[in-house]
Amino acid sequence: MLAETLSAAVVGVDGTPVRVEVDVAFGLPGLTIVGLAGSAIQEARDRVRSALRNSGFEIPSRRVTINLAPADLPKEGTGFDLPIAVGILAASGQLDPGRLGDTALVGELALDGGLRPVPGVMALAAAARASGVAGIIVAEPNLAEAATVREIAVFGAASLGAAVGHLSGRRLLDAAEPTSPSAWRPPEDAPDLSEVLGQRVARRAVEIAVAGRHNLALCGPPGIGKTLLLRCAAGLQPPLRDDEAIEVSRIYSVAGLVDRSAPLVRRRPFRAPHHTISTQALVGGGPRIRPGEASLAHRGVLMLDEALHFRSDALDALRQPLEAGTVTIARVDGVLFLPARFMLLAAFNPCPCGWSGSSRQCRCDEGARRRYGARLSGPLRDRLDLYVRMETVVTASRATRPEAKAVAAARIQAAWCRQLERQGIPNSELSLARMTAEQGFDADLLHLIDRRGHRFELSPRRLHRAARVARTIADLEASAAVSAQHLDEALRYRPEEIAA
Ligand SMILES: [Zn+2]
Repeated sequence: MLAETLSAAVVGVDGTPVRVEVDVAFGLPGLTIVGLAGSAIQEARDRVRSALRNSGFEIPSRRVTINLAPADLPKEGTGFDLPIAVGILAASGQLDPGRLGDTALVGELALDGGLRPVPGVMALAAAARASGVAGIIVAEPNLAEAATVREIAVFGAASLGAAVGHLSGRRLLDAAEPTSPSAWRPPEDAPDLSEVLGQRVARRAVEIAVAGRHNLALCGPPGIGKTLLLRCAAGLQPPLRDDEAIEVSRIYSVAGLVDRSAPLVRRRPFRAPHHTISTQALVGGGPRIRPGEASLAHRGVLMLDEALHFRSDALDALRQPLEAGTVTIARVDGVLFLPARFMLLAAFNPCPCGWSGSSRQCRCDEGARRRYGARLSGPLRDRLDLYVRMETVVTASRATRPEAKAVAAARIQAAWCRQLERQGIPNSELSLARMTAEQGFDADLLHLIDRRGHRFELSPRRLHRAARVARTIADLEASAAVSAQHLDEALRYRPEEIAA
């Protein structure tokens, strides 16, 4: 007898519907799973057998063949346990197959028949909804996460028995209330900009970067406060919009990093991987495709401390997300895109010993300094918007009292709202074609931009980036028009001579 259950697989950070076809036929008893199933799915045989037995069901002493369709889609993970077990029950006459067409099933089975959570449930529930089913059954710990997806009834089951009780109509589960986003609160662990003494120019650059989501690099000797300043950016980022919150939460759900009690992320991510990270961990990929740090930083910040100590292939791999906002990963069945639109914050020393250009003596020879500077290769350097060379603070400027964090945060928030009202996207994403009088770039300013480009011998890409930064500086002053002053300030942060 043949039965079919509905489930879904994670592809990148999206879900796609999967049909689980189960055939129970005469022949030697055994259980075969086909349809590009990964190793975790092959192990489902043992889990499903034990779960069925320990839940009081019968294991058919016949030949059981399971096909996961579409067969050409590679599938991984343990979430097919539940649809496989239910399919076996339906194909062996222990459950009415007519009741399976309207509910998708996702969950890992414990040997005792308990139902366990799986990663990526937000994407899976969305795929189930797109395939037209009315409901989905997930493990109870996945309930709040799945219920962030609207227009589909979400049921949480504690066990295989509970899921079967619902499907048979004997004991219906209650549909979950839709999960609403938790209130936004600034991260408590982020340091306050007012803790940074002096460094007026660098503080200003952090504010501009966060306000318009521009890429920023700070260069300076050790202990000068580069890292602290960049960490301040975490607490200054504006809250995520609702649509962004869903995008980001889905990535965290797939990566298995979601807070199950508050699954909708409201805070912009702040990721700070160590410089020993592999390229794969940084941009994603691997046999089981997982989002890398670049995707986990989507709509937030990717901070590279000691940026020039990262592997050069890792830095090169950031070129594409910095340009396109996505990471491309090759798969057996084609190419996959992972979202990775982050703001890059980088910090590094000016030379290997760290003291070049400071009051202390630099111990590096000329060749070592040059090789070090070359590590920030063209691709990355070209994608920086703001660059500040930090100097050791002298006592006098230490005395100037920094303004409170709330003041800067309010200015950033206001500038942020202005961009979104005007153009619907952050200034960092403003295309050249949209730099018109409507966005505050009048003809005189466009001419001035050209002239400055000639004078400083800037590439069109670099000039375009400076114009976007100028737009943000104008927004911080609540100015509708971008002025020559705004442009000239933007050009002062141009990343021209990085490293000594
Ligand atoms: Zn040195």
